[in-house]
Order: sequence, then structure tokens, then C-alpha cells
Amino acid sequence: MKNTKELRTWLDAMNLTHPLVIAGPCSAETEEQVLKIAHELKDSDVNYYRAGIWKPRTRPGMFEGVGEIGLRWLKKVKQETGMKTCTEVANAAHVKLAMEYDVDLLWIGARSTVSPFIMQEIADALQGTDKIVLVKNPVNPDLSLWLGGIERLYKAGIKNLGAIHRGFSTYEKSKYRNIPEWQLAIEFQNKFPDLPLICDPSHITGNREMIFDVSQTALDLNYDGLMIETHFDPDNAWSDAAQQVTPTKLIKIMEDLKIKKETNTEAAYQSSLDNLRAQINVVDGQLIELLGKRMKVADQIGQLKKDKNVAILQSKRWNEILGNMILEGESRGLSEEFILKMFKAIHQESINHQEKIING
Ligand code: PEP
Ligand code: MN
Repeated sequence: MKNTKELRTWLDAMNLTHPLVIAGPCSAETEEQVLKIAHELKDSDVNYYRAGIWKPRTRPGMFEGVGEIGLRWLKKVKQETGMKTCTEVANAAHVKLAMEYDVDLLWIGARSTVSPFIMQEIADALQGTDKIVLVKNPVNPDLSLWLGGIERLYKAGIKNLGAIHRGFSTYEKSKYRNIPEWQLAIEFQNKFPDLPLICDPSHITGNREMIFDVSQTALDLNYDGLMIETHFDPDNAWSDAAQQVTPTKLIKIMEDLKIKKETNTEAAYQSSLDNLRAQINVVDGQLIELLGKRMKVADQIGQLKKDKNVAILQSKRWNEILGNMILEGESRGLSEEFILKMFKAIHQESINHQEKIING
């Protein structure tokens, strides 16, 4: 992908004064449900109405989507409300049907982006289309796989492209359903600054209470838009109940989000500052997470030392660590003084932890 500016022509042409907003239910359930939510959203800032027609469920036996009939309901949404529509496609047959029913924007889900064969099949089926196609990140935090999916579409002559960041699966439990790994998305933006990037806080959080904060972080990181699952009765939704918000709540979220428009130099300054601060917050979060991990390992060493009846402080080992870190630090522009102070503090915390373990 060379001239990435052309990839965002579709977005620039919309001349939006707010982030692009895609909203609607996780799944199309019934005609009434699809139309009711659409009518509740039609006078809001929502640009595209979403509804999953084919649902990729992790385990069999769950609701797997209504299929083709849902495409008729989406067509009705367009006729009755004037809203543009979008849905997920996961194979060539889905693409064919979505095109037949004139869905305006298609996205490729996280479980499809992981498979180069499926991505190629979808790219071939879409060959040369002027529909907008957005690629969700793969379930695993693999930037190449994500970019590879987008490149397959680009090579198939699809120029109205974009990406959706929906977070990544982890084995370890976390407060997120799919951890954001913001630094990966930041790297993505650095590689392709013009490729529209949309955040999907619904699938990142899995929890409607956290949608606002994740959306604000995304906007501070200069994302181009948001995709937020919306349902008039979230608790009784047939899929992803915990993360959906009502149309009223969605409108409130959009009102409360701080949206930066670079209209004058003061605003441009503030916008750059907020962006950099959001990046600092991401890195600080990682620092704390890593320090926590380091202390857990130190605890294990403490346990070993206790079992073997060995002294806590082992200065030879400690001097080795310091020497290495001073060199590493130097190569990253960090002064010896700073490295010494920081590692002394880290070391002291490890000693405190180990003392607690050894002395009970
Ligand atoms: C969805 O958008 O409803 C969906 C299935 O998302 P993902 O591919 O991110 O899991
Ligand atoms: Mn969903």
C-alpha cells in the first residue's frame, strides 16, 4: 500500500464534524427489533447502522444469526430512516448476498482476519468494489496479520478501506473482554497514518459501564470513529447482552465525549497534547503491569530462597543486573543516575516482598 491518502477519501468526503459513528445491535434478531433501534437512532450522529446477520460464535449451540432475511430488514432500515447500513461478512457467499441487498459498508470480523485463506476468499469476492470495507484486528495481537488482511483487499482493487480495533483475546483474565493493547494500535497508526481507524469499545470492554472511557481514550489517540453496539433492551439481547447500550445512552455518550477539532492553533495544541498524554497513559499502564509481573517473579525467588535457607541479598547478582541495565539505558537515552535510582527503588521493593515471604 503506497498512497495511503487515497484510502481515506471515502471518510474525508463525508466532511464529518464528529467522529464517524457506527451503531446498532450486535445481532439482527427480528424485523421489529432492527427497525425499532434504527428509528431511535435515525436523528442522532450515527452514520452507519450495524447489525450482525451471520454471527461467528465461539461455541456451537448459541444464536448464530438470522441469515439472509436480516438483509431485507437492513434494506428496510435504509428505506425508512435514510441511514446507511453495514454488516459483517465472513465468506464469499456472505459477500455475494450483502452486495445483492446493497449493504453500504462491510466489515470483516476478528475471527476471519486470522485466516489468510478466508481473507483471500473475501478479497476475491469483493474484487474492485467501491463499497467501504473495514477489517477488524485478528483475535491475536499480530500486527502483520491485521495489515496482511488489509493488503489482500487493497490488492483486489478495494480502495475504500479502514480498520477496526476491537481488542485481543488473552488467557489471563482482565477487566476487559479483549485487552486493547493500545501500543499495537499506535504502531498501526504510525505505519499507516491515513488509513481510517475505528475503535470498537463494545468488544474491547464486554461491559457497557466501560464504553465511555475506552471511547474517550480512542478519540484522544486520534481514532477516526467508533463502533458501539446498541439495543433498546440490552439485557435481553440474543448476543453480547452485557456490552450493549440503549440508543439514549449512546446519544449521551456521544454528547459527553470530548471531541477535538483542530479549528485554531490553541485547539491544535490541546489536541496534540491530549494525544501525547493518552500515549503516556498507555505506557504508564504497561510500566505498572510489568513491575507487578517482576514482583511476582521476585516472590517466587523469595519462596525458593526460603526453602533453601539462602540470604535475600545477593550482591554479585545485583551488580550484574545494574551493569546491564545501565548499558541498556544508555542506548535508550536514559542517564546512569536515573537508572541507578530507578533500579534501587525496584530492588528495594523486591527485597521488601522477599522479606515478607521469608519472615512470614
Ligand atoms: C461483532 O461486531 O458483533 C463481532 C462479532 O465482532 P468481533 O469480530 O470483533 O468479535
Ligand atoms: Mn457483538
